[in-house]
Amino acid sequence: MSSPPALAPAAMPMGMVHLARSKLIQEDLFSETCRKDSSCLSCNHAFCSHCCFYHHVHSWGTKMMVKVALDAGTGQPVLPTHTDEGYKIMQCMVEEMPAEDFTSRLPRDAFCLYCGKAFCAAVCSHHDDHRAEGLPGDAVIRVEEHNGRHCVRCTGTEWWASHLDVVLGDPVHASEDDQGRYYELLPVLRTKAGTCMFCGVALEWHLCTHCSRLCHQAWLRETDERRRRREARHALL
Ligand SMILES: [Zn+2]
Ligand SMILES: [Zn+2]
Ligand SMILES: [Zn+2]
Ligand SMILES: [Zn+2]
Ligand SMILES: [Zn+2]
Repeated sequence: MSSPPALAPAAMPMGMVHLARSKLIQEDLFSETCRKDSSCLSCNHAFCSHCCFYHHVHSWGTKMMVKVALDAGTGQPVLPTHTDEGYKIMQCMVEEMPAEDFTSRLPRDAFCLYCGKAFCAAVCSHHDDHRAEGLPGDAVIRVEEHNGRHCVRCTGTEWWASHLDVVLGDPVHASEDDQGRYYELLPVLRTKAGTCMFCGVALEWHLCTHCSRLCHQAWLRETDERRRRREARHALL
């Protein structure tokens, strides 16, 4: 009797990708903005707590992080002199803090398909090395706004395109980047949790994704047609 085949090493990361994909479908990930609102005393680095809280948990845990709030009146950063636990911050670190930009609002313009996390690419580079986890390529997709819609930038050669047909629509824009390379913007198709993914009606059973078999079939057909259009488009590149 032969034993069942071992799980391919790639199976685990793909599960992560599918979890990330369902976050893209159900959550409003990109509407809010970020700012550098914290400082890590361990790396002496200003960061955004939304993007990088877990990236600055060092051997001293969260004790090495301080929040940098904005003054309600002036909008200027209120630089801390003590940690939350009441320890005095080294003077040289306090003096370096004003050089950081704690006020600018920054767009959430990136999404990690491995972590299922939206973030600001300008302040976080911690998702750049996931290839080692068994993914076929980079895990970070770039998101930009086009006519009020959040879109994913796609050149047509990315490994993830075939995994995202259920969540990315037909291109709303196609152009060439600074280096003359083709790219298209694919809008993120969101559905509210607890509603039918095809017609949007509220669902009685929260574990369901569609209100009826008909809606499910229509949704599958629509997704399949969109996949075929994408494959035809990308085959010409
Ligand atoms: Zn952030
Ligand atoms: Zn980070
Ligand atoms: Zn740190
Ligand atoms: Zn990541
Ligand atoms: Zn429906």
